Amino acid sequence: ASKLPELDASRITVQLADPNAREVPNEAVANTGDETICTDHMITCKWHYKTGWTAPELKPYGPFSLMPVASVLHYATECFEGLKAFRGFDGKLRIFRPNLNAERMLMSTLRIALPGFDPKELEKLITILVAQDGPKWLPRSRPGSFLYIRPAIIGTQAQLGVQASKEALLFITLSFMPRMDSPPGGMKLHTSPEDMVRAWVGGFGYAKLGANYGPSLLATAEARARGFGQILWLYGKEGYCTEAGASNFFVLWKAKDTGKLQLVTAPLDDRLILDGVNRRSVVELFRNRLAGEVEVVERKYTIDEVLEADKEGRLIESFASGTAFFICPVSLIHHRSQNVKIPMGKTGEMGEYTAKVKGWLKDIMYGIEEHEWGVVV
Ligand code: PMP
Repeated sequence: ASKLPELDASRITVQLADPNAREVPNEAVANTGDETICTDHMITCKWHYKTGWTAPELKPYGPFSLMPVASVLHYATECFEGLKAFRGFDGKLRIFRPNLNAERMLMSTLRIALPGFDPKELEKLITILVAQDGPKWLPRSRPGSFLYIRPAIIGTQAQLGVQASKEALLFITLSFMPRMDSPPGGMKLHTSPEDMVRAWVGGFGYAKLGANYGPSLLATAEARARGFGQILWLYGKEGYCTEAGASNFFVLWKAKDTGKLQLVTAPLDDRLILDGVNRRSVVELFRNRLAGEVEVVERKYTIDEVLEADKEGRLIESFASGTAFFICPVSLIHHRSQNVKIPMGKTGEMGEYTAKVKGWLKDIMYGIEEHEWGVVV
């Protein structure tokens, strides 16, 4: 059998929007409305099981049409990614470790029975879109600004039979997103309700499927109504700490046995959590730059261990990591009528190590430190 066309960024066709049709609002304005503001263009690419991938199209941002019986609308055949493009203080545009997002998207895609692709081609498409809209939407006059990049794939086959979608649509948008890394007084977490789990062994919590997110919104909405920012998702009767909302979760404490500084976070191997790009980066930076000072431990740990560390005065700092929340200090965890208050450092803004790792990442993202993770567009 002849091979079907693969996803191929070099085949892209370009239809440009009128560059003067829309003005770029400032970040503060862009982030206040109910609707996410996207840039001038998007990229789309279709797949069909008999004909493979079409040529990708770069075209004006706008709606697309789907049949009411499209697979994604009924069976959640969807996965997505999230990463950012940054305007550096050196004037350059950068994307942070896009290869990791492209590889993770392929993993998620295959998990939901959508078509595979070469992640390098997806990375190229992301770069093409940022190169197109970056100069206007991340102007040189706004160093330190960023746009959110959202690639997604959906099953588009008009077929209600419960089966893998034989047609798909890949699309990439660029949009504004509020800065969420510094809520006043730090992020306050509420542990997940006893009757809810986000992910389970044998499930798909490790993949970035839309199906993981919709069902988490109820608990989050209830926690928000009570003044908390995110849910700290616990797992099992042991109450293992897994993730904080849509971000990975870290605790810095003095180890019970040795008294040494330890940064602890949930492990990847039981596939309950997303392999966050920021999580990986935090782990690597602590291991490379703070070896001998802080030990990084990826292991299962329970909320009771956190409560115990608090009672024994061993709790030093806590933060969440993710593309949206960046490095966000956690100041409080509420668990079944108990409150754990977490130190926020001398400044009251965040602890010393949280600030350190946040600073390192920021410097790489905005080109203050030249680093292979900051990929220049
Ligand atoms: N966990 C979940 C469930 C997420 O949705 C995200 C955001 N992608 C993260 C963790 C953080 O991952 P990353 O650092 O790659 O943004």
